[in-house]
This record gives sequence, structure tokens and C-alpha cells, in this order.
Amino acid sequence: MSQDSDVHSSSSHPFANQPAIDLCDFSFHNKFISELPADPIQNNKPRQVSQACFSHVEPTPVPEPRLLAWSESLAHQLGILRPLVVHHPTLDVLCGNLVMPGMRPYAARYGGHQFGHWAGQLGDGRAITLTEIMDRFSQRQELQLKGAGPTPYSRTADGRAVLRSSVREFMCSEAMHYLDIPTTRALSLVDTGAMVVRDMFYDGNPIPEPGAVVCRVAPSFIRFGNFQILAANGEHDLLKRLADYVIINYFPECMDQGLPSYEQWFHEVCRRTAVLVKEWMRVGFVHGVMNTDNMSILGLTIDYGPYGWLESYEPQWTPNTTDSAGRRYCYGSQPQIAHWNLLQLANTLYPLFVNKTPLENGLALFVKTYEQEWSKTLADKLGFLEITADDESLLIDLFKLLEAEETDFTIFFRKLATLPVDHQSLLNDDRELLKFVQSAFYIDAALTGKHADRVVLWLRRYIARIGKEKRSTIERVAIMNRANPKYVFRNYLAQLAIDALALGDDSVLLDTMHVLQRPYDEQPEFERYAERRPEWARHRAGCSALSCSS
Ligand code: AMP
Ligand code: MG
Repeated sequence: MSQDSDVHSSSSHPFANQPAIDLCDFSFHNKFISELPADPIQNNKPRQVSQACFSHVEPTPVPEPRLLAWSESLAHQLGILRPLVVHHPTLDVLCGNLVMPGMRPYAARYGGHQFGHWAGQLGDGRAITLTEIMDRFSQRQELQLKGAGPTPYSRTADGRAVLRSSVREFMCSEAMHYLDIPTTRALSLVDTGAMVVRDMFYDGNPIPEPGAVVCRVAPSFIRFGNFQILAANGEHDLLKRLADYVIINYFPECMDQGLPSYEQWFHEVCRRTAVLVKEWMRVGFVHGVMNTDNMSILGLTIDYGPYGWLESYEPQWTPNTTDSAGRRYCYGSQPQIAHWNLLQLANTLYPLFVNKTPLENGLALFVKTYEQEWSKTLADKLGFLEITADDESLLIDLFKLLEAEETDFTIFFRKLATLPVDHQSLLNDDRELLKFVQSAFYIDAALTGKHADRVVLWLRRYIARIGKEKRSTIERVAIMNRANPKYVFRNYLAQLAIDALALGDDSVLLDTMHVLQRPYDEQPEFERYAERRPEWARHRAGCSALSCSS
């Protein structure tokens, strides 16, 4: 496997060359639970919890754990040795069968707005944080098992996760990392050897499916919802304690003369969220369930469920069948939804403020940051130094064109950098010009007739605009290729990996992850991973639409 940028950059770090060790030999930290109050009850019975940030829980053992996937680059960052034998204590820890002395597992208490409505207490119903460890950059990292059994927050569900959704989380969070988009990560994927019953299509036909546990890793999994549940229950002292904890540990830049500045912190959360959502829009990622319990306070992509990647450019597209009627969380709505979620967070944090002006300013900062960042990103995607007022009609026409006929968002933008802007002879011929972007069209008819004429016309305007740029072609193309990934985690690629794993073949997962480690590089030998979604995948479950069943 090739090395990723983490691995390279870590070599300059003083601890980078320390040998990796077994997970069991780490020093374990439990800062979150030692500084914040616990639920006094210690069992997994579903209940409403109050005056606490978490509940102590133990993972529920599984019968036959088998390591299916491992992130070498994350393991390297953490300094953890891969378990190489079938029975290994690291594997036992990663599936929930072994809690090492010093680890103090817990489930976090949080609430949230689901699909626009306050849902009350939610909490880690199937995620259990084992402990925190220090990575090689001296950054604290939480190790969290998803699918490790019931907790007091499981409500009526089983605390487990199916293999298909676990594969999707493992692969996508790693793919996002390689795209350089803030995200939680995944160290391991373990088949539990136990079946989990799910009604995948919500049609009254539940079937047993293989279960799995993913070990997720992030500096913190704290969500907007962790604060919301406290404010909703009037636990304002605790709200302040949690805010202070988060600022002191994760936002040191928001300390003002030794005290947490809630204003600076809220503004930073707004800024990070704006940058995050802009990044999703850049690569065509649709989260699918942007409930406030799925919004990371650190500005990370969190909770990979029925997410998807834009194939043809359709702002209304959502991968989540549960959302197909309202399309609340469709691609084009993500910035507004992030703003709405921040508004809920502002309401939650209001007890920490003397007046609402700093909160309103934070929300305004979100809008401003998003607009500026998106404009800059669009400029990079198109190869312009900046977007100017004169570009307005070119941009409007571009997005109209992309929407008019099924056009692959990723391929179209990537191909723009290949246009022979310096070769007039090629530019004179309509057919030749069209060839540069033709692989982006799902329908052949789009390549003939009026639509083709419109595309050619737009390409000529675009090339003329590029002609006014002061940058060299080499420099411009490098910037465009860095803004327009060639390889994204297309929806059907996930399904192919899942199908193969179900037959005991992990090669598809490994090969796909290998390609996705260098999403901006040409990698001509892996061209097929960059192609349009094949027709067979158009309507296949898991490839174009997903339910929340996981
Ligand atoms: P999600 O839609 O995945 O963000 O989950 C919303 C809430 O449902 C969270 O509190 C989850 O912990 C909980 N949840 C989802 N699936 C399960 C499950 N299989 N068992 C227990 N809780 C679950
Ligand atoms: Mg969630």
C-alpha cells in the first residue's frame, strides 16, 4: 500500500519514529469521564438520564471476532501495531470482548433535533467510547466502538450494527480523510460472528444479517446534541461545565486571559462548520442525516449513515430514502441546514451569554465564511484566480447546464482541466471540444442536438475566460486538480466491497481503499474507479438510495 500524506508529514515529528506497540500496552486516559459527572446508575437498561454527561457501560462480548479491515495510516498515526494473528488481545479490545485495565468505557448522553423536530434524549445507543490515548502528535484521541452492544441510550434497539453499514462507515471516513476533509476516522472493522436482524427496506421483512464493530477514532465525538440535552433539561451548571471542558481541551485558541471565551468558541464552531460543509459541497458529499446529534462540535464529518456522493449533478438529490419526501438533507440544502443546526446550538448556549448579539454574530459569520469559502473553492474548481462579478452568468449557465441533462459532477469538473486552452486548432472543432467532457454524460443523447450545442457554447466562453487568467497552465491545472478529486467513494463502489466481503473476499475493499488514498492523483492504472456509475447500479439498493436501517 502506498503511504499517505500523514505518514510523510509525521516523519518530521519527534515521536514519529518511535516503534508502534500493541494497543494493550498503551497508557489509557479517561479525561472526559474524570472531569464531568456520571450517571450514577450502572446498567444497560434504557432510561432517561439526568444531571450527567455520560453513563458507564461495558461492551457486550461477541462470539467470533474476525478482523476484516485495518487502517494502516491511522494505526501509524496512533502508533498501534496491527494484530497479525487470529486470536490477539488487540482484536479482543476492538470487538468489545476485552476491556483493558485502565480503560473506563462509557456512552455519552446527548439529545438532538431529528428532521427539524426536537427528539429529546438520544445518546450513544450503540457507540461505546473505550478510552482515550495519545497519538504520535501528542493529540488525545478517543477510541470508540460502534455496534458494541446496548447502552442506557439504546431505547428499543439492539446496540448493534450490520456489516454493510459498518463497511460503509469504515471506507467512507477513511476516504474523507484522504480527501483532506475534516472527519472522524476508522481504525478497524471486525466481523462479530453474530447475526443482527434488520428490516433493510422497512417493508416488514426483517432478515438476519452479519454484524460488525467499527473502532472509530477522533479527538472527541462530542456533538451539538451533548449541549442541547443539558439546556433542554435546564441543567445550566452542567452546560457551562461541558462548554468549559470542550474549550479548554479542544479550543485553546478561544481562551481569553485564562478563561474560556464562549463568544470566540461559538464563532469558531460556526467557522469550522462553514468550512466543513463547503468541503462536502466541493466533492459532492451528501451526509444524509444532518440532525443536530450528528453535528460534531469540532467541525468533523461524523456518523456515516445513509450518506452518498453526487453522481449526476442534482441539488435536490438525497441518498436517504427516509428523507425522500421532504429532501430536507439533500445536497443543495446542506449549507442552510448547517446554519439551522447552528441556530439550535445558539439557542442552547444562550444561558452562557449576557445577550444574544455574539450568537447572532456567530451565525452571520457562518454565512460570510461559507460565501467566501465557496467562492474561493469555485474559483479553484474552475481554475480562476478569483470569481468576479463578471463571472455570474457563466456560473449560472454552468449549473443550469449540469442540471439539464444527467452530468457527472465529479467527472465534469475534473475534465475541465484537460481542455486544450492553448491549442486553437483543437478548439475550432465542436466535436473535438465536446470529447474532453463527454465521459461525464450519462445519456448519449446529451452529446448531440441542442444540449451539445449549449455545452460547446459554454466551453468556448469558459476557455475565453481562462484566457484572461494570469497564471501558467501548469499552475492552474495543479490547483484545479487539487480542488476536483478524480476518485470519490462512488455509491456503487461501497456496494461492490460489501458484496465481495459477504462472500469472504476482502480484495475489493482493499483495492478500493488503495485507490482512494490518492484521490487527487491521476492513477491511470485505476481509471475504472473514476468512471461514471454503471447502469446496473442506477436503481440497485445501496447504490443509489439507502434507508436508515443499519
Ligand atoms: P443515527 O440516526 O444513527 O444518528 O442514530 C440516532 C440515535 O439512534 C442515536 O442515539 C443512536 O445511538 C441510536 N441508534 C441507532 N441505531 C441503533 C441501534 N441499532 N441500537 C441502539 N441505538 C441505536
Ligand atoms: Mg448519530
